Amino acid sequence: MKKLAILGSTGSIGTQTLEVVRNNGDIQVTALAAGSNVDAIEAQIREFKPSIAVMWDEAKARELAVRVADMEVRVLAGMEGLIEASTAEDVDIVVTAVVGMIGIRPTIAAIKAGKDIALANKETLVTAGHLIMPLAKKVGVKILPVDSEHSAIFQALNGENQREIAKILLTASGGPFRGWTREQMKDIRPEDALKHPNWAMGRKITIDSSTMVNKGLEVMEARWLFGVEMDQVQVVVQPQSVIHSMVEFVDGAVMAQLGTPDMKLPIQYALYYPERRYLPGKRLDFWSIGQITFEAPDMENFRGLKLAYDAGTVGGTLPTVYNAANEWAVGSFLNKQIGYLDIIDIIESSMAHHQVIADPDVEAILEAERETYAFIESRWCK
Ligand code: NDP
Ligand code: MG
Repeated sequence: MKKLAILGSTGSIGTQTLEVVRNNGDIQVTALAAGSNVDAIEAQIREFKPSIAVMWDEAKARELAVRVADMEVRVLAGMEGLIEASTAEDVDIVVTAVVGMIGIRPTIAAIKAGKDIALANKETLVTAGHLIMPLAKKVGVKILPVDSEHSAIFQALNGENQREIAKILLTASGGPFRGWTREQMKDIRPEDALKHPNWAMGRKITIDSSTMVNKGLEVMEARWLFGVEMDQVQVVVQPQSVIHSMVEFVDGAVMAQLGTPDMKLPIQYALYYPERRYLPGKRLDFWSIGQITFEAPDMENFRGLKLAYDAGTVGGTLPTVYNAANEWAVGSFLNKQIGYLDIIDIIESSMAHHQVIADPDVEAILEAERETYAFIESRWCK
């Protein structure tokens, strides 16, 4: 039986992963980790009976330990806990579904311990892809994409030679503000941006989708996953979210993966790759879809996408600055401390201020994150 650790088990990807496990009945969940949601993780522990459970928050971990004292589970806390969950002997695959760069250390530790990675946590690859991909290759573990676009690309590459890729065509819905000008966007509130037209996701990625920073992060994620250059990844807006992404090969052939918007498909594909399993749910009905439309992304009004290309092209610590500034700004926007357009201004000024370090190690990446926060706090928190 395959043994699974889920980092971020109480979130959108985490709970859908557990749904896939529940539906199939032949995967054993051996470790669960979350931030602070004791109620949700307690219910998961009672249902899935892992041997390790982790709460990032130490006080919450103590509370959880008391609550599950009747169960055979070790309750751990903090980064040590996350690393222990992802490297435990009875784990084969680690689903990385935490939000943000916090995923870097546990992901690297899991790879070093020989675990396959089902990767949802794109921020980790954006900031440390140059370390993670060669390490995974050296150790001989698989990095299986969970992000729907990257899963689509991965599926389109089945049986193909990665060296024959001409272009990755990364599709985007364009989000709830597609077609808007910056002027129209200036009064957007968190509650407006939290409504995505096609996908139900966690709060941070929903905001990222509305600014198109999510697509920017995904361009960098694709570049590392599929070993291509930044200018080989082209964003194609496809508002119906029917085509999940495409690959153009050197002979001009284009392969695509299509489906209804359901994250359980990429999650299940990553867990059982290369096998396909039955997945209940709606199927595409092309007679009622009628048409699928395409357009170019608007990089003038959605500068976050343009800045991602700049960050990825320069490389080094600049993608970390892009990502860290965005993490900080999205958190502050959700707390109503800054305006919507400030998100992109904060990313842009942080990038302009940063002295890039080429080929950073983990410590240099985390230092660039700290420096970015310090710069933003000195500039924006007066
Ligand atoms: P959610 O906000 O829904 O869930 C985040 C999860 O991470 C929760 O379980 C949360 O625990 C946990 N968590 C947060 N901080 C920590 C921490 N410091 N230590 C341990 N656990 C922590 O996020 P999503 O599921 O939407 O996204 C997860 C990742 O997957 C992101 O990187 C996102 O970009 C990516 N992704 C998500 C998609 C989606 O459809 N949702 C699609 C493609 C990619 P708690 O509940 O206790 O706070
Ligand atoms: Mg995606």
